[in-house]
Amino acid sequence: MGQLRISAKNLGAIALADFCPRCFWIKLKMGNKLPYQIFPGIFSTLDSYSKKVIDSWVKAHGTLPSSLSSLGDVVESIKPLHHSRFFIEDEKTNIKLTGDIDAVFRTSDNAYLIIDYKTAKFTKTQDRLLPMYEVQLNAYCKIGKQHGIDPVEALYLVYTEPSTNFEDSEYKDFVTEDGFMLNFVSGIRPVEINPKLVDWSLEQARTIYDLIKPPDGREGCKDCGILEQLFAIAK
Ligand code: SF4
Repeated sequence: MGQLRISAKNLGAIALADFCPRCFWIKLKMGNKLPYQIFPGIFSTLDSYSKKVIDSWVKAHGTLPSSLSSLGDVVESIKPLHHSRFFIEDEKTNIKLTGDIDAVFRTSDNAYLIIDYKTAKFTKTQDRLLPMYEVQLNAYCKIGKQHGIDPVEALYLVYTEPSTNFEDSEYKDFVTEDGFMLNFVSGIRPVEINPKLVDWSLEQARTIYDLIKPPDGREGCKDCGILEQLFAIAK
């Protein structure tokens, strides 16, 4: 059984209601490098911005800004390990599980909070993605335990939502010398700590990866059929 490497985020796809084992198998075999994958970089830029603003605040004030104070009595921001070092090797499944953690805060009880920032609105789409994020954050928790982030008191998704409503008369508040500003409003969603979710996901990933042929695709998805038509035309 050769070692399989997978990121916490990619592992989380297994928990989605519309999960497709065929898609997952193909991505694993391709090292997650597929053609025609265009993801706008602006979201990771905005996540990094949120991370930097909040980290800087905690460093300067020794606590969280008031909008996030309900997360806990935070006293320190811990610099997360780079993803090349933040991993575990699960013996049972021989999977190298990697993580790219957004933020870790130490509380006054010497426990830790693990945070993942999402630049998004609280919408039904986000609810749909929640099972994926639950696996992702619990995977960070599992990896973190082996890197000294222990005990973990809570896991949180922190949504940062652009605030775009303002009165016409307030326009001057947003205009600067070289452009204009955009405010963000934060929303908090706790995620239950559930180590079994990660173990289950790792086992599923191993089972799918070890299949010699790709499994059937998701019922109702027409794209595989279209792809076969493309191949037939190109022959
Ligand atoms: S069935 Fe749809 S989701 Fe699954 S592999 Fe085919 S195109 Fe991808």
